[in-house]
Amino acid sequence: MAYLEERNKAGEYLRLALTYIAKYNLPANPVNYTVWYEYVAGKNMKLKKAIDASLDAAGPISADNVESLYQKYVADGDRIVISKLLTKIALMLKDITGHVLETEGDLAGHGQNLGELANQISEAHNYNQIKGIVDQMIVETKELVDSGKRLQTRMKISSEDLKQLQQELEKSQQEAQTDALTSLLNKRGFEKRFELERIRAKQNETPFSIIMVDIDHFKKVNDTFGHLVGDSLLKSVANILKSQLRKNDIASRYGGEEFLILLPETGIKGAKAAAQKIRDTLAVKEWKLKETGETMGKITVSMGIALYKLNEPEEALIKRADDALYLAKNRGRDQSITEEEL
Ligand code: GH3
Ligand code: MG
Ligand code: MG
Repeated sequence: MAYLEERNKAGEYLRLALTYIAKYNLPANPVNYTVWYEYVAGKNMKLKKAIDASLDAAGPISADNVESLYQKYVADGDRIVISKLLTKIALMLKDITGHVLETEGDLAGHGQNLGELANQISEAHNYNQIKGIVDQMIVETKELVDSGKRLQTRMKISSEDLKQLQQELEKSQQEAQTDALTSLLNKRGFEKRFELERIRAKQNETPFSIIMVDIDHFKKVNDTFGHLVGDSLLKSVANILKSQLRKNDIASRYGGEEFLILLPETGIKGAKAAAQKIRDTLAVKEWKLKETGETMGKITVSMGIALYKLNEPEEALIKRADDALYLAKNRGRDQSITEEEL
């Protein structure tokens, strides 16, 4: 502060200042001189406003009040600016720490430290105190950011863990519904899909058919060429089924050498055509042993076809397909029979 008033004016201000000091029974020290001098000189408008407000509100003014007014409005203009900035920072920090405190671990610890520092700012009196607080803030903020990064990393890791877990679950679910030998759906997988198709058929009022497929004289294959050859033949038949069916058709290995096929949006006629395609493919295929090239002859299948009736249980539908298959076997195998022929 520069005091460049004329001597007489300065004397006038000082006299007035002393009047206030006496009026409020304040100690006659440099702080009081300065504050009241500035007040009466009317140059420090913020100080004047603050004192007027304080006088309006509380009447007499104490030495402590004056001291704090001095610190706030007189002592050091830079400090006021710094203090304002720090108040802003403190508010920001309180906001951050408010969120941070809800978390756990390092982050909450640094958040708490920052919160305390924010409180200390408002009580700091001199530049060195403020500087000390700011230095500490910088350290705490840096650690807060580092902890945040660690937390982020941890969260990222755990979300990756979760994703992996999810994938593993999906995989094991898939495995539980898949036949290991042929990669077709197993009975369980078929039943799941059957339920979905049932709902779809009801919603869209579209029919679907099933074909029960059983390899003819499969026992003979095992007996003549061994179980491993039998297995390999099962795989090949599964591939033929897949290759001859449409993308939306659902093929499953329902039992040992029995396959159950579901044909969405397909009536008996369509199912019969699909069955014929499968039989035609098998009819032209010559089976040979991989290693020796020895011929195995022809492989044929018998099939039973049934049409789903709205709301009927799965077993009822499968029984009709089974009955038709049984008839196909009795009629000499290598043919398909529909439930209509029963
Ligand atoms: P049919 O024409 O009456 O169906 O005669 P089939 O010999 O096919 O009938 P059966 O039901 O008597 O025999 C089925 C055979 O399928 C018996 C069983 O050992 C064989 N089998 C079932 N599952 C497997 C398998 O996973 N691998 C092999 N290699 N054979 C299997
Ligand atoms: Mg069988
Ligand atoms: Mg059989």
